Amino acid sequence: MSTEHQQSSPGTLFVVATPIGNLDDISQRAIKTLSEVDLIAAEDTRHTAKLLSHLGISKRTFALHDHNEKQKAQQVVDWLNEGLNVALVSDAGTPLISDPGYALVNLCRATGASVTPIPGACAAIAAVSCSGLPTDKFQFVGFLPAKSKARQDFYLSAYETGMTSIMYESTHRIMASLNDLKEALGAEQQVVLAKELTKSFETFFNGTVTELIAFLEQDTARQKGEIVLMLPGKPDQSSEINPEALRLIELLKADMPLKKACGVAAEYFGLKKNALYKSMLEQE
Ligand code: SAM
Repeated sequence: MSTEHQQSSPGTLFVVATPIGNLDDISQRAIKTLSEVDLIAAEDTRHTAKLLSHLGISKRTFALHDHNEKQKAQQVVDWLNEGLNVALVSDAGTPLISDPGYALVNLCRATGASVTPIPGACAAIAAVSCSGLPTDKFQFVGFLPAKSKARQDFYLSAYETGMTSIMYESTHRIMASLNDLKEALGAEQQVVLAKELTKSFETFFNGTVTELIAFLEQDTARQKGEIVLMLPGKPDQSSEINPEALRLIELLKADMPLKKACGVAAEYFGLKKNALYKSMLEQE
């Protein structure tokens, strides 16, 4: 299978997504690919052995993780150039998304070796798609910083982007992390927690950070499991209708067309002309 030009190796690296909990969340194409490749690079070969055994696949695997990836990458590229097909998998979800694989894929691209995705589960995307938060623009930031001050700074800047932020947080840091969120953005800050996605105890919690802390403190078992935290961005102030601007338009429209009056008020208050115009039409 070839994807595009610039790729010249006879063998291909397949970046294969695996389930994040529910073992049924693996595509037919992923199963076919894992069955057909010559070798599988796995973050943890014992973990992947369980998945392969569940799928009835017997295949040679080797470890490719954060500690050996740089050394292994060249070896894998050599295999691709010799015509072998290799699959890359991590313990769960999409490789490279807070998981090993970057050094390998980067080297493949730099040397013209063929790389193609076999897409599937990713906790960040599964979480945000059901969060109820805006999904038109979002940022994924991987794991939150380990230190309290860095986390507070991070939360502040994430909020200021105006985008939904998606974060991975470890179970042993979740309470400290939520307290930092409260410190940085206030007790009433809205937040969404998605836990144990696709598993028996899947949980979504939408509410203020204070409510979420209380929910998790009520039963410490709720603090366990795999967690995605999501923070809405700061609302776009410019789209909020300023009553002063509307009053000015009322006065101006006696002497000029409504559109022009909206333009003047927008300029004066630093607002969007179209939003003001729409709001005036809605009032009429
Ligand atoms: N590559 C994975 C992906 O595509 O989502 C992420 C791997 S990262 C090492 C593991 C983190 O992802 C967990 O600590 C948790 O924050 C998140 N995660 C993974 N599976 C999850 C699940 N079933 N429910 C909620 N979060 C999950």
